[in-house]
Amino acid sequence: MRRAVLLLCLLALASCIGAPRRQRPPPQAERVMDSAALRQCLSKLDLGVARYRLLPDRDFGNGCSAKGAVQLLDIGTPITNLGAMTCPLASSFAQWVQSDLQIPAMGEFGSPVVKVETFGTYACRNVNNAAEGRLSEHAFANAVDVSAFVLKDGRRIAVLGGWRGDPANGRFLRAVRDAACRRFRTVLSPDYNALHENHLHLDMGGARLCR
Ligand SMILES: [Zn+2]
Repeated sequence: MRRAVLLLCLLALASCIGAPRRQRPPPQAERVMDSAALRQCLSKLDLGVARYRLLPDRDFGNGCSAKGAVQLLDIGTPITNLGAMTCPLASSFAQWVQSDLQIPAMGEFGSPVVKVETFGTYACRNVNNAAEGRLSEHAFANAVDVSAFVLKDGRRIAVLGGWRGDPANGRFLRAVRDAACRRFRTVLSPDYNALHENHLHLDMGGARLCR
């Protein structure tokens, strides 16, 4: 009898030790694109008119990382301040610049876009630069902030001032914002909040949002 009780105790203990440990949801830093998805994305970049350099995976600490990222070297139009971008972000961005900007630019201004200005891509920070809360997609090199477009005739269409300024500028900026909504997961413009008054935030994160 004693032996049976001991056995039961041991079994209970074993099942306790053997039970799967409760797992926390993976921290946001553990964002690794599986290699098949990355290869597929890179071959899409290869097919497009993009020269790029594949960057080594980086962990920057504090949950921030750049994995499966590339540096776009040439997509036909000069872009300022581009750093590391996840492959899906780089791919969507290249397609947006190559396919979605010139028709509205020619329609509104009769002059093509020859340069796109950005505030950059990777930044280890929270959403909306808040002290607490969720990490921004920028913390994963998965977002880019576009601030202005320079036309061949020298005009510069900045999001700041342009969105609510001259009607042609506003129409152009809304047209390229709307086009971005078809290529990126999240697109935030001055219509979203005051923090986006001077740029279009484009990212390939989880939430589908177009504002
Ligand atoms: Zn942003």
